[in-house]
Formats: sequence, structure tokens, C-alpha cells
Amino acid sequence: MTTLAIDIGGTKLAAALIDGQTILARRECPTPASQTPQALQQALQSLVAPFMAQAERVAVASTGIIHRGVLTAINPSNLGGLAQFPLVGFLSAITDLPVTAINDAQAAAWAEFCALPGDDDMVFLTVSTGVGGGVVLNGELLRGSGGLAGHLGHTLADPAGPYCGCGRRGCVEAIASGRGIAALAQDELAGLDAKAIFMHAAQGVPQARRLVAYSARALARLIADVKAITDCQVVIVGGSVGLAEGYLAQVADFLAQEPAVYQVSLRAAHYRHDAGLLGAALLAQGEQV
Ligand SMILES: [Zn+2]
Repeated sequence: MTTLAIDIGGTKLAAALIDGQTILARRECPTPASQTPQALQQALQSLVAPFMAQAERVAVASTGIIHRGVLTAINPSNLGGLAQFPLVGFLSAITDLPVTAINDAQAAAWAEFCALPGDDDMVFLTVSTGVGGGVVLNGELLRGSGGLAGHLGHTLADPAGPYCGCGRRGCVEAIASGRGIAALAQDELAGLDAKAIFMHAAQGVPQARRLVAYSARALARLIADVKAITDCQVVIVGGSVGLAEGYLAQVADFLAQEPAVYQVSLRAAHYRHDAGLLGAALLAQGEQV
């Protein structure tokens, strides 16, 4: 059965036709800047139109929290006019197909889990613009009654740390994410994005090295917490920051400083770009989300 998978991200929208684990065709476009329901509807409609005739169902992975088919977020102002967007209802109406939807990090976690050789318990962490996650226990993806499960970036890293977009102070996301790293940069690094700060760190610039280390240490402590909560066998780290050169090795060094009971196998994510699309499709193929 062919699934039309859609990934709704903060910067781009992607769609693919997927059969089993094979991506048959794929296209993408920028996420509309205006963040109005009408702009998103138009963008989705033209994105999926060429694929609709070949699809038998639709599976969506989206940024934010998906609760009963409606898109919202921990910080709804992040979504502008899209908070409370009826994602499943809209896509059902334009495609006339069954539609499932799930948070993008949860979907990616499922794709990563399916690519593993056989562990039953794993936690996925994606560190990029924000910090997201997904938890698989006993071979089942944890979604939560309200869709919140796995939002591990909003656990506490430093009570005296910077404020997070969710309203809490010192979340892992506010320190470890690309946006968080950039926001903490001062003086000669002020205004640079995370990619530029990583380049400065690689060249030995002390402040850049401190910012990257602050991020990696926050992530390592989160991983120790995650081990204590789930007793998972493996933690998979993805995202543009998570997969940046040398970053995971630093996380591993900080984790190694924690007591032995919190040590867990760390791995780089198998997928770089399409984990959300694939995970959503794999979930829809296996069950109703
Ligand atoms: Zn937060």
C-alpha cells in the first residue's frame, strides 16, 4: 500500500510517496513565512497534488504537538496563526484518504527504532534548531495522552540558565539547541548562527568552544536522566547540531563523567533528512496513529 507522507517543519514542507521503507518520489517547498492557515493550506495542496492519485493513505509528521489531529505546540506563539490548525481534518478533506498525524520527533524516533538491529528500548534525541525527542519502550512508541511524550528538550538543564520559548527557565533546548547556542553568543560571536559558531569552535575560538561544550554537557546530563527514567539500551542522537563534526564525541565525554549506572550506548542517527517522513509512513503502515 502506498503512503503519501508529509513532513511539516519550521523551514520546509516535504512530501513523499512511500511503499514499505522505500521512498518512491519526493518533493519539498519552503514553509510559508506568513504562518496563516490559508498560506499553509495552499502550500500543502500544491505540494501533495502530484502524489494524490497514487496514494492510498496519508501520514503526517509535524513540528509541534499533534493532539486529536490538531496542530499546537508547547509554545503556541511559535506557530503564529497555525496554533490549533486542524491538520488531519484539512488533509482528509483535500485528499479524501485516511490521514494520520504525529509529532515529527516521535515519527523520526520510530524510523530510527525500525533501523536498529534489535533493541526494544531506545530514546531518540534530535538537536537542531530546537531539541526534540521520542521514546520507544518495549518496542512501542510513547506518544502520551496529549501528544507531549518525548518533548525531552523541555526538561530542566540549568535552573539559572536562559529562558526557553516554552516559558520555563533553563530548559535543555535553551542551552543545547542551535537557536540556544546562537542566543548565548556574545561579543565577537554575537549575531552568528550555530553553524558559524561550530566553525569558530573548530578553529579554537575559546568562547565558541565553551558554547558548544555547554550544549554537549546539557545533552549528556539529559541522556543520564533519560537512562534513569527509561533504562533504555541505546540513545540515538540526530539533528544538524547533534550530527555536527565532533559533537557526539563531546557528549560521550561528558556522559562518561557521570556515574556508571547512567552510562548508555550512544549512536548517531541512521537518517539525516527523511526520518520524519519514513517514521510517519511506517507507523501508518503498522497501525492507526
Ligand atoms: Zn522549554
